Amino acid sequence: MDTGDLAQRVMAGERRALARAITLVESARADHRADAAALVGEVAKAGRQALRIGLSGTPGVGKSTFIEAFGLFLVERGLKVAVLAVDPSSARSGGSILGDKTRMERLSRHPSAFIRPSPSQTQLGGVARRSREAVALCEGAGFDVVLVETVGVGQSETMVAEMVDLFLLLLAPAGGDELQGVKRGIMEIADILLVNKADGALLDVARRTCADYSGALRLLRKRAQDPEGFPKALMVSAVEGAGLEQAWAEMETLSGWRRDHGLWEATRAEQARHWFEEEVRHGLLRRLTENTSLAEKMAALREAVTTGQRTPAEAAEEVLSGFDRGE
Ligand code: GDP
Repeated sequence: MDTGDLAQRVMAGERRALARAITLVESARADHRADAAALVGEVAKAGRQALRIGLSGTPGVGKSTFIEAFGLFLVERGLKVAVLAVDPSSARSGGSILGDKTRMERLSRHPSAFIRPSPSQTQLGGVARRSREAVALCEGAGFDVVLVETVGVGQSETMVAEMVDLFLLLLAPAGGDELQGVKRGIMEIADILLVNKADGALLDVARRTCADYSGALRLLRKRAQDPEGFPKALMVSAVEGAGLEQAWAEMETLSGWRRDHGLWEATRAEQARHWFEEEVRHGLLRRLTENTSLAEKMAALREAVTTGQRTPAEAAEEVLSGFDRGE
């Protein structure tokens, strides 16, 4: 394949080329890996940057409704918006969280929007790498905002946080007890908490929930260099489109501040380092498992560890010294 040609077409903003490029980075085939890496490298050379926004929330909280409303809000302001999904659970459910055609119907038809369903994957590490490369491709294709959606299952948020500039957590109006249920780790990576469904009969509860979260955030922490008042909690109604303008203003304030203070670049540099190490780790593991004799040895030792005949450390050492000897 001529990755140079595909890269040019991606950078020219051709959506079919972008879709094809993402399919290439999602491919599990070993011979596609080198092409995918070359393609992403070529596209990255242009140095284009989008605002990358992570969005998480439990199923039913209103993520797709919010993305549809917020995405339309952005495209109406002349911005180009890409939406990607990271769904580590799709392997289990057998479907993709964006597979449902009724999701984001209006946004998906808009010429300034690009929506990519989540790949069905079995392994979180693989999902991470592919999503990160898909984000980079959308960035190179000239999108201004890349939204990365993930379901709230802990591990995936941490992974998405490593590939975005801002992280939003969507929450439902709820009583005080449920507030306790939001995992501390997720609160810590979120820059803005959005209490959705602040409309109709839920408005009062949403107000209380938002105040509760604001209080919890004050106790939690402020990232050392972020401006006063962040992270913060806001109310939105994805259905009514209420609060979107303020939410976007806050996102711009925070990302602008981070740019002005060198934090944007510092974070991206740190993320690049993280992904480099992940790639090396992943590549080493792949080499181990692709090596037939070592894979067989590992299978036997796994069994021996499971039945208690060998200790984990000792068995691992045997595999690694076999690898060192080039077995
Ligand atoms: P997801 O699973 O997080 O993607 O959630 P959906 O976007 O599919 O929304 C789940 C349900 O919540 C749907 O019935 C939506 O109509 C409803 N919903 C989403 N946003 C709002 C909102 O702002 N207000 C109200 N009242 N309902 C909403």
